[in-house]
Amino acid sequence: MATVIDGKAVAQTIRSEIAEEVRALSQKYGKVPGLAVVIVGNRKDSQSYVGMKRKACAELGIKSFDIDLPEQVSESDLIKQVHQLNVNPDVHGILVQLPLPKHINEEKVLSEISLEKDVDGFHPLNIGKLAMKDRDPLFLPCTPKACIELLSRSGVSIKGKKAVVVGRSNIVGLPASLLLLKADATVTIVHSRTTQPESIIREADIVIAAAGQPMMIKGSWIKPGAAVIDVGTNAVDDPTKKSGYRLVGDVDFEEASKVAGWITPVPGGVGPMTVTMLLHNTLEGAKRCFEKNH
Ligand code: NDP
Repeated sequence: MATVIDGKAVAQTIRSEIAEEVRALSQKYGKVPGLAVVIVGNRKDSQSYVGMKRKACAELGIKSFDIDLPEQVSESDLIKQVHQLNVNPDVHGILVQLPLPKHINEEKVLSEISLEKDVDGFHPLNIGKLAMKDRDPLFLPCTPKACIELLSRSGVSIKGKKAVVVGRSNIVGLPASLLLLKADATVTIVHSRTTQPESIIREADIVIAAAGQPMMIKGSWIKPGAAVIDVGTNAVDDPTKKSGYRLVGDVDFEEASKVAGWITPVPGGVGPMTVTMLLHNTLEGAKRCFEKNH
């Protein structure tokens, strides 16, 4: 049976480490890290993610700046807001909650965020540096960073291993594969046009699943002893639940946990780690800023 990686527990450990560092910074510089969270409109899911982020900031002593803009806000007004945050010395990280309303060009807004405050790690220059050999991005995208952190804190070595990433999105699959490559894995990416994904996945010592396809990866697709990080978070109908649904990953946990060496559950695996990595990025941004201006 696989070791189940408890994302909640790992996240809690890292949060305590961050809180400790925030206290030390406050003593040394008389300042704390600041994170600005910009939300446009009132999508329920976005409101709930943003609420979680703001609450987590408060718990760790990070100052949060809440910018709530109406659904109809113009692209230029949103960009003005981003520019103001770029020059605000108390803000070390800026997060614009996605998705934005259709009349706003997401790519344009994200590229206006100062590189030094791009705590989501989505700025094209940060991704570009991630893709280049011997270059270090200022920030790593949170979910892929969470995957690597879960592997390393579980004692899974990456160097020289065969890794397969399922999915190639800009926010998860692609940066996860680049991070694995930087950590010296030999990386293959499986996507929706890949033929016979099972034969490729079966070769992998490490699998990162981020396809958004409920329980697509079967136990028989997993190499015995492999480390399986399941990013997928999919709601499936479940009449036995009060809500009428439950969350499942991209991996059939029941089957795969009998074969894998390590596996993350859904929920309770990557999910709790993602917000924690955002807070960690904010801490890193603040440290760089305080050291530079000291
Ligand atoms: P996207 O829909 O943007 O990307 C999905 C990727 O999976 C695409 O590259 C797509 O390929 C590929 N794909 C789709 N179907 C298949 C298939 N049958 N076989 C192989 N590859 C396939 O999703 P995201 O990357 O944003 O998210 C992926 C999953 O991770 C979702 O379930 C999401 O909810 C979850 N997630 C969880 C987070 C967390 O913190 N736990 C954070 C972010 C996401 P192609 O490019 O060819 O279309």
